[in-house]
Amino acid sequence: MNIPGRLRTDADGHAAGGAPNHGEDIEYLKRRVERLKLYSAALTLILMEKLGVTQAEIDKAVDMIDGMDGIKDGTMRRMVVNCPRCGKVVNQKADKCMYCGNDALEVPFLERI
Ligand SMILES: [Zn+2]
Repeated sequence: MNIPGRLRTDADGHAAGGAPNHGEDIEYLKRRVERLKLYSAALTLILMEKLGVTQAEIDKAVDMIDGMDGIKDGTMRRMVVNCPRCGKVVNQKADKCMYCGNDALEVPFLERI
């Protein structure tokens, strides 16, 4: 994997020299989570101060988005889409619908950011 700002690793997560690099991967991920928390807080503040959005409205949106993957577990790991042709639920990472073969699956907005 080669992510900007991160040490270079191969597909198995090994550092350029070949040794496992899990400690650095964990530190990298911790920094990313803290950065995402910072941006989340900033966006929440802007929504509340500039647009008058309430905490209850934000909580409601979080709850709705949490349930979009079919499981309310505080994550949005398993994003799924409804096939526009047959309406069945399909993993959004699939190239095509496993039920009808439609290859024009729409990726939800939140998965494109
Ligand atoms: Zn389909």
